Amino acid sequence: MDKITISVIKADIGGYVGHSSMHPNIITNAIQSLEKAKGKGTIVDFHVTHCGDDLDLILTHRLGENAGDIHKLCWDIFVDCTEVAKELKLYGAGQDLLSDAFSGNVKGLGPGVAEMTIEERKSEPVIIFAADKTSPGSWNFPLYKMFADPFNTIGLVIDPSMHEGFSFDVLDIFENKTVTLNCPEEMYDLLVLIGASEHYIIKGVRKKTGQIAAVTSTQKVNLMAGRYVGKDDPVMIVRCQSGLPAVGEVLEPFSMSYMVTGWMRGSHWGPFMPVSVEDANPTRPRDMFADPSYDLARNQANEVANYIRRHGPFEPQRLPLSDMEYTTLPQVLKKLKDKFK
Ligand code: MG
Ligand code: MG
Repeated sequence: MDKITISVIKADIGGYVGHSSMHPNIITNAIQSLEKAKGKGTIVDFHVTHCGDDLDLILTHRLGENAGDIHKLCWDIFVDCTEVAKELKLYGAGQDLLSDAFSGNVKGLGPGVAEMTIEERKSEPVIIFAADKTSPGSWNFPLYKMFADPFNTIGLVIDPSMHEGFSFDVLDIFENKTVTLNCPEEMYDLLVLIGASEHYIIKGVRKKTGQIAAVTSTQKVNLMAGRYVGKDDPVMIVRCQSGLPAVGEVLEPFSMSYMVTGWMRGSHWGPFMPVSVEDANPTRPRDMFADPSYDLARNQANEVANYIRRHGPFEPQRLPLSDMEYTTLPQVLKKLKDKFK
């Protein structure tokens, strides 16, 4: 069977405005370059998107993981887009490109990478996740839920092709060592580690047969000049269906807004918020109130409005008498004057 590699390679090469989002010219620029690469046959297909200020290049190709040609292609696009970012005076232009020279692989140079090589099934449902203003450990919670929690993924219990469970490759980012733990057998050991998501990061999940199911970008491990680089804004590739969690089971963990590190200045704990690509602008918005972070306020406003409307002509829905002077009140009072005893 034909093998195909899915590469998701991302970098922050300039924010619009501040660190909040992506200028459309950057996306257009990247698409043009990848159209050319597709024309030449370097890649099979591609999709360009963004999460916040991160440019995500999603590629399929036949060159395998860590392919120099693919990494060089993406690196050159990031360099090129940085020029566009500089012209547009975008914020932090080229901030994730930590070297002037490409050296065979973008890992360690700033960009984030998640890649998997698969034997493509008749239909290959794949979901690409991208997060901004948070760290690679952010995928620990949902990956555990998808592949180990039977209350999330009922398939673990009732689907014979999933009943064996899955293997988790967990990276200790301080020791730069990986341990493989099997679920359900070693579930509690796994949880002890991955519950500390700033220390242990799930790098990948496989079926017990070795077939890859999910991979994450774990570039936090790359130390350069004594500091972590490309530490934020992880991506993840998850395969679904046919012996793997159903699409609904892969999405289910995001129905809870779990806590992650990152947020403003990369220095806080905050809730992970699932949003559409259109809404992937992690700030209070530029189209000032179009942002879903105001949804709660809108919900509160509607609830309060419904409640108070039901008071009808009673205060406090109706303003007090002193404010009723220009309504029917004076006429009513005049009419009733002689009736008051
Ligand atoms: Mg930025
Ligand atoms: Mg970012």
